[in-house]
Amino acid sequence: MMLRRDTRPIYIGKVGIGGHMPISVQSMTNTKTTNIPATVEQIHRLTEAGCDIVRIAIPDMAAAQAVESLKNSVSVPLVADIHFDYRLAIAVLERGIDALRINPGNIGDPSGVRAVVTEAQKRRVPIRIGVNAGSLDKKLLAKYGGHPTPEAMVESALEHIKILEELDFFDIKISLKANDVPTTIRAYTLMSEQANYPLHLGITEAGTISSGVIKSAVGIGALLAQGIGDTIRVSLTGDPVEEVKVASEILKSLGLRQYGPTLVSCPTCGRCNINLVNIANQVEQKLRDIKKPIKVAVMGCVVNGPGEAREADIGIAGGTEYGLIFAKGEILKKVPEPQLLTELFSEIDKLATEGKGE
Ligand code: SF4
Repeated sequence: MMLRRDTRPIYIGKVGIGGHMPISVQSMTNTKTTNIPATVEQIHRLTEAGCDIVRIAIPDMAAAQAVESLKNSVSVPLVADIHFDYRLAIAVLERGIDALRINPGNIGDPSGVRAVVTEAQKRRVPIRIGVNAGSLDKKLLAKYGGHPTPEAMVESALEHIKILEELDFFDIKISLKANDVPTTIRAYTLMSEQANYPLHLGITEAGTISSGVIKSAVGIGALLAQGIGDTIRVSLTGDPVEEVKVASEILKSLGLRQYGPTLVSCPTCGRCNINLVNIANQVEQKLRDIKKPIKVAVMGCVVNGPGEAREADIGIAGGTEYGLIFAKGEILKKVPEPQLLTELFSEIDKLATEGKGE
């Protein structure tokens, strides 16, 4: 069991963050928020993929006004991403937003900060303080030698926290994102030693799918493995649904959450006599439509296959012109290669529907 750092719980709509609540997955729409049909459609795709909380950009009053229609069309909690303008924060609070991402220190006008905090407090709406290495205050940068060091990022977060705490506001969540992994890890680690507010993990501007997945998995994974982090967002240049899939895989790989099936497939070697790559790709495709957390193994040979995949609920191991179907490491039947995939799919279907309708 991985030990998790104890944090002060908050609620974004019905989703709890912190304490010992499950680590949630977040993403952000990349549609124009004012385009209600496109945004609703993307939010549905995100929740279908397993997203627990969705953030939307609120760059202007038209976007803030769109929150009302969005809230009427989706049930997943929505977070408004706002920079500087406190009037946008008030507008989305009045329209039922579930959380704000706004840095109080950037609002400028103290009466504006007070107004946002009062309205958020009234509705028990939490605020995420989101520090980004790329947009640190010039004074802080100068203090830390002109670079956005982890220490500078933490100091920035503490300044924003102080503003909220002085107004008796404690429903706070913090993120400290940089686009390089060591800075991010260090910043979150330092932060976790200085405050017990829940942490929203992410590597910002991580890149396209190929590089972004790796940076996110390493950065977020390293922190989660130390028990740091209460909710995660993977940032990728592309369809945000991919972010949710990657985030779910990160949590699954650390045993922190169960999301649908897991595919185990061997890398193949000289013992493999079947087209395993094709089979593994087809099985992966098949598993996309299954929600049950089953484990399926696709192994290249009978010598090591079933034994290596002992924990799998079901699997195949290739032979020469035939393959074995096995479950939990035990061989169930021997099948000619052309029928292997059909037989495996039928076993997967049986497992996926087992217990349904009882
Ligand atoms: Fe090689 Fe068999 Fe192991 Fe696959 S399961 S890597 S084919 S030994």
